Amino acid sequence: MALQIPFHKAYTDSREVEALTDVIQSGWLTMGPKTFEFENEFAQKIGCSQAIAVSSCTAALHLALVAAGIGPGDEVIIPAMTFVATAEAVSYTGANVILCDVKKTDATIDPEAIERLISSKTRAIIPVHFGGTVCDMDSIMAIASRHNLTVIEDAAHALPSLCNGSMVGTIGDFTCFSFYATKTLTTGEGGMVTCKNEAAAERIRQLRLHGINKEAWNRYSKGGRWVYDVTETGFKYNMTDVQAALGLVQLAKLDEAADKRRRIAKSYDCAFLDNASLVPYTTEPSVESANHLYVLRLSDEASVNRDTMINHLTNAGIGTSVHYIPLYRFTSFKMRAYNFEDFPNCEWLYQRSLSLPIYPSMTEEETAHVSKSVLGCLQKGGEL
Ligand SMILES: *Cc1c(COP(=O)(O)O)cnc(C)c1O
Repeated sequence: MALQIPFHKAYTDSREVEALTDVIQSGWLTMGPKTFEFENEFAQKIGCSQAIAVSSCTAALHLALVAAGIGPGDEVIIPAMTFVATAEAVSYTGANVILCDVKKTDATIDPEAIERLISSKTRAIIPVHFGGTVCDMDSIMAIASRHNLTVIEDAAHALPSLCNGSMVGTIGDFTCFSFYATKTLTTGEGGMVTCKNEAAAERIRQLRLHGINKEAWNRYSKGGRWVYDVTETGFKYNMTDVQAALGLVQLAKLDEAADKRRRIAKSYDCAFLDNASLVPYTTEPSVESANHLYVLRLSDEASVNRDTMINHLTNAGIGTSVHYIPLYRFTSFKMRAYNFEDFPNCEWLYQRSLSLPIYPSMTEEETAHVSKSVLGCLQKGGEL
């Protein structure tokens, strides 16, 4: 039988099943001891002082923006090459989304393009660590400090990623992680904010659960008190202990999973080395990527286009995806009258990119089948 290789498979086994059984039997399902244990372990893993677990990365971004004081009339610069959640979180605050072009080399936000977009209303930048590759954080932090801007990293792809030996999660003012089903650590749905500032962390802790002061979660437990205060209008963005129980198991497997991803990426790199039909993705030597995505880019010399390649791989039983359709191409952004010409690199990337399967449980045989199918398609011009 031909191999069937989906685009993604979650890295779960009996350890997650046991953890879920235990948490259900504990009798406490929503935010409680498991969530706080997960936050502590996560903070330790990243090497940051504050980690706040929430319901998604979208919620994490929203809360970080609120904690940074972003609101109506403000401008927030984000790359156009990202998932729509990055922009939507900005819109929730009433601030204006300012789309920025990315670098051709690694699809991360272009610091020079950021500088050109800064106005008197700019308050924050949200760099997105595309595919796990860390943005040029030295330049971005320097720009932010010159213009007094908050840096909120969208690290949905960057667990665990490093830059100059520092873990993503310890660099900007706030860092937001996703534990969505396809991410490198999953709790089904979930997210985390890390930050250095203790007061900001405390505000996010209250905002994630209706603005209730922090002892409130345990008002139902033994010795808990019924009295609580609501300090400001908050959100229903808390994590649950069911999610956290999954997260703790996934966190313990993080390094092992990252090694497996790295090996798959290396194997693809070897197979595609020096192929004139492909444009290799170049990253800075100081960056260690989480390898959340493996993006293939077809050169102008390639005999096939991206869509033909996707069809060819689908016929070979291989799932693929495209990261991303640039945000200005969506109906909800068209009203804002963006010019495609303002984003030459996003367009260049969008026209020729496709993402190949990369997940820890992929076997060598499966990885080789994907590489062979890609090379076969390039040679035969898409005919099976
Ligand atoms: C997945 C993703 C998000 C949203 O994460 P959720 O946890 O689903 O809210 C945000 N940004 C990027 C770049 C993503 O890939």
